[in-house]
Amino acid sequence: MTRKIIIIGAHAAGLDAASAARKTDRTAEITLITKEKKPAYSRCGLPFVLGGHIKTFDDLVVFPERFYKMMKLNLLTETTVTNVDSKAKTVDIHDKSGTKETLSYDRLVISTGADPFLPPIKGREKKGIFVVRTIDDGEKINKALETAKSAVIIGAGLIGLEVAVACLERGLKTIVVEFLPYVLPVLLDKAMADRVQKMLEEKGINIIVGKGAEEFLGTDKVTGVLVAGETIPADVVVVATGVRANVELAKNAGVALGQKGIKTNLRMETNIKDVYAAGDCVESIHLVTRRPTMSQLGTTAVKQAKVAGINAAGGYSTFIGAMGSWITRLFETEIGGTGLTEFMAGRSGIETVSGTIVSKTRADYFPGALPIRIKLIADKETGKLIGAQIIGGEEVTQRVNALSFAIQNEMTIKELAKAETCYAPPVCETWEPMVLAAEMLLRKLR
Ligand SMILES: Cc1cc2nc3c(=O)[nH]c(=O)nc-3n(C[C@H](O)[C@H](O)[C@H](O)COP(=O)(O)OP(=O)(O)OC[C@H]3O[C@@H](n4cnc5c(N)ncnc54)[C@H](O)[C@@H]3O)c2cc1C
Repeated sequence: MTRKIIIIGAHAAGLDAASAARKTDRTAEITLITKEKKPAYSRCGLPFVLGGHIKTFDDLVVFPERFYKMMKLNLLTETTVTNVDSKAKTVDIHDKSGTKETLSYDRLVISTGADPFLPPIKGREKKGIFVVRTIDDGEKINKALETAKSAVIIGAGLIGLEVAVACLERGLKTIVVEFLPYVLPVLLDKAMADRVQKMLEEKGINIIVGKGAEEFLGTDKVTGVLVAGETIPADVVVVATGVRANVELAKNAGVALGQKGIKTNLRMETNIKDVYAAGDCVESIHLVTRRPTMSQLGTTAVKQAKVAGINAAGGYSTFIGAMGSWITRLFETEIGGTGLTEFMAGRSGIETVSGTIVSKTRADYFPGALPIRIKLIADKETGKLIGAQIIGGEEVTQRVNALSFAIQNEMTIKELAKAETCYAPPVCETWEPMVLAAEMLLRKLR
């Protein structure tokens, strides 16, 4: 009998679950449902359209319509799933024309993602205040930036800083307000974050840390933000203060939740038989602390989704957990990391030793050699690598990846200090900076 698979959400997780399901079961009837007009576009590219690096928002759409036909995926856009009946194995849908229907499934994948969190700041309903999650959001911000002279970004996380860079590139006076004491507070430790802040300030972005936005000022439209009693003028405000998992639908269907998201086993199956979940709405196990974590990165979403899709289609696959390895480029600087920061390790009760080195990305004498700064963090008791942060002019991504592999394989600092690496003057130094950082940390551990 043909297996009926329904996937709620048709973005990073939804699409990957559908593709994996199709590859596993060539005959399954697969239906993908999304509230949005466009399926499976890259949210990650939105700041780069705003900054003018990518021409149009349509360029972010990953696959043309014919892809869905070729993969025999029944795609329903501008359609909302209003209810899941996990006993009857049905979902109720409501499309934009107002038509309501009930669809039955054998296997269900919930990939409802997350929505931006807008803190309860007075005046947040005013015009000119935006979040950045969808193409719709991007188009609204883009229009506002055409006439605006100044922008205030609330939140100095990855998305906030990427949008701030875009605003400056568009010629706006740009100010970032971060409630915590330094930028990228969840991803970097203070000394590394201060370097990023200095670089951004040198480029012309004003950054206020350790102070929260108290009120959005203006009558109908925002004209400024009140920060620690001081008015900062703003024609546009972008709030980038994190996201919250969309779990209501799952919860109402009886799906068990963890601390912040849907709980699954290693096969991405929820507590309800034949109901799987993947992506920003799901909790993962942190590979270092072994505690629940909300990764909410595209990379984690697609990995979980592939596993959910394979299993939903009758195959076997597992997702072992996440560390939230991340990377960005702000102006010409690449910044990335993996594992735990010292701050986060401390909060998990791990005693750490850390070391930071500065080196070059090519042989010192080779034209174009750029500085690279690597911080490694070790568990003092075991000597294992548990975190890394890198700021550099180039070649940061693959070092973050290498260190992520090292953490995942529980490598000790001693082992990393002995790792064999390659060398040629135009592409790297004789002594690989990661190895130098490990040697330095090893001395401290001893
Ligand atoms: C500006 C920006 C930059 C980013 N940059 C990066 C990056 O550089 N690297 C990285 O790894 N990650 C990045 N991310 C995060 C990444 O985009 C997300 O992790 C990823 O989109 C999660 O995919 P998802 O499918 O789980 O959820 P989503 O992308 O949120 O998709 C879920 C979909 O389900 C739909 N839906 C929800 N409920 C229903 C319902 N009841 N009925 C029908 N449809 C429903 C939603 O409307 C949504 O379209 C970025 C995110 C943003 C916003």
